[in-house]
Amino acid sequence: MGFAEWLAAYRRLASRVVHVCSVCGRPMTSSFYRASTGETYCARHAGERPCLCCGMPSDSRLVMEIPLCGRCAATAVRDQAAVKRVLPPIAKRIRALSIRTTTPVRVRLVVRDELRSHHPEGANALGMTISTGTRVLDLMVVRDLPLVQFGSTVAHEVMHAYLAQQGFGVLPPPVAEGLCQLLAYAWLRDQPDPLAAVERRRIAEDPGPVYGDGFRAARAASQRLGVRAMLDHVRRNGAFP
Ligand SMILES: [Zn+2]
Ligand SMILES: [Zn+2]
Ligand SMILES: [Zn+2]
Repeated sequence: MGFAEWLAAYRRLASRVVHVCSVCGRPMTSSFYRASTGETYCARHAGERPCLCCGMPSDSRLVMEIPLCGRCAATAVRDQAAVKRVLPPIAKRIRALSIRTTTPVRVRLVVRDELRSHHPEGANALGMTISTGTRVLDLMVVRDLPLVQFGSTVAHEVMHAYLAQQGFGVLPPPVAEGLCQLLAYAWLRDQPDPLAAVERRRIAEDPGPVYGDGFRAARAASQRLGVRAMLDHVRRNGAFP
């Protein structure tokens, strides 16, 4: 082998990057999946349910309310004792964003079937607030949400509670849900967890006419006028300025 040939062979070897699956560590297949975290995994995981939080394959051995990968399951809020532990800093941050409920609301963990029983259209909902007039009767969050999704769901539902307590009345769904998504988005902005960025993107890029368009309208109005003035306008007119 001459030097040139040797060099070419050496370069072929040296430049060969071996991509491996970030789930099983085996060599990457020619077609592969990309999770919302940007991680890639191989075609061997076809058919495995994706983790609801990050999009990586979920761990089927876990007994949880929602499909989760092991990494997201590690922060899952599984019972009321866990709520007691993780809620105070979330509630404090929400108050710092000037959203104060007149009476403290209790966050109750529920199974998804309970949300479905209250509202058949809430099949994919992760939380629900029930109010009558200005009285909040119940604030429910699905059991087993990873911390980032738990916090953003609590923020969303606390905004529903705030709107009820402050007498906003019945708002068109894009207005109500848009305001709630705006608070969830604001809470996520301060979270160091990389999954918070994934959640923020999910909110901002949601193509739906209620949550997605509602959020974008709320964000645009709050950037133009400030949150206070926007909320005053919504309270008086039932619509975004
Ligand atoms: Zn794999
Ligand atoms: Zn995950
Ligand atoms: Zn909502």
